[in-house]
Amino acid sequence: QARSALPHKYVIFSQQLRDAALNRMELDAALRRALERQEFEVYYQPFIDLASGQCLGFEALVRWQHPQRGLVPPGQFIPLMEETGLVVPLGKWVLQEACQQLKSWQTQLKQPQLTMSVNVAALQLTQPGFLEVLDDVLRTTGIAPPCLKLEITETTLMQNTETIRGSLDEIKARGINLSIDDFGTGYSSLSYLHLFSFTVLKLDRSFVTQLESSSKSIEIVRHIARLAQNLNLALVAEGIETQQQLVLLQQLEFQEGQGYLFSAPLPASTAHQWLRDRIS
Ligand code: C2E
Ligand code: MG
Ligand code: MG
Ligand code: MG
Repeated sequence: QARSALPHKYVIFSQQLRDAALNRMELDAALRRALERQEFEVYYQPFIDLASGQCLGFEALVRWQHPQRGLVPPGQFIPLMEETGLVVPLGKWVLQEACQQLKSWQTQLKQPQLTMSVNVAALQLTQPGFLEVLDDVLRTTGIAPPCLKLEITETTLMQNTETIRGSLDEIKARGINLSIDDFGTGYSSLSYLHLFSFTVLKLDRSFVTQLESSSKSIEIVRHIARLAQNLNLALVAEGIETQQQLVLLQQLEFQEGQGYLFSAPLPASTAHQWLRDRIS
């Protein structure tokens, strides 16, 4: 895959994992141990203001730092953790970790407007205690609610619609931003916009990838962009890899973007340096 150009060592690992054919029970047991042993690590990928090139904030992306196997990407363990419920304690930890990190960057680097986006599984949103967890994290870290963004992947919105809707309304009422992640990949993208109170539309990477190769996709994205504007949603693009994609997205009036063109997800210390170098 195109990942080979990046400082990610997990492509080989992923093959090994498949070869080893770790069964679900083994993987689940390993993940439980990993939580206890604190083997998870949060990486941070910057969000860029597409007009000015300025860094607006970061997205927290979890990795499993396996003692033997190295860095394991979330695609290889989040789905199982969603099924077994382990994503709930993991997600709580990621939220705390990312918010603490944000607070420290805001104060140390004197960037109080920086934002942090945290991916949240649907299962977290349906847990009765989730709002308390959120309030707790905001209170203990002292982060202003608008600096926090929760990203919910579109394809997870199909089940428990009513519970999730109630939960999202409560979150929005607190002034926290809500992004619909991977927009355009679900069965019913447009109806989700209608049903849930999102404040940010994050266009799926697949649309960005296709921008350069077909004028049809430009038209589709133009429509999505107009829709987002009419609904007062901020427009964000993920997976920007080329200068040409950037130019097209600027023309389509996307405000924010992320992608390897700017930076891959980075460990906290590297992200700190990256940010420091950029603002000085
Ligand atoms: P996502 O939230 O849509 O995150 C974007 C993914 O695209 C990340 O993969 C990121 O590393 C990758 N990416 C960013 N820029 C580019 C680019 O320019 N080109 C390409 N090809 N890829 C790019 P990652 O880190 O492997 O995460 C995969 C998914 O795992 C995330 O998709 C998110 O849905 C989920 N995830 C990650 N962290 C968490 C978490 O803490 N909790 C939950 N529930 N899910 C998480
Ligand atoms: Mg995301
Ligand atoms: Mg996404
Ligand atoms: Mg995605």
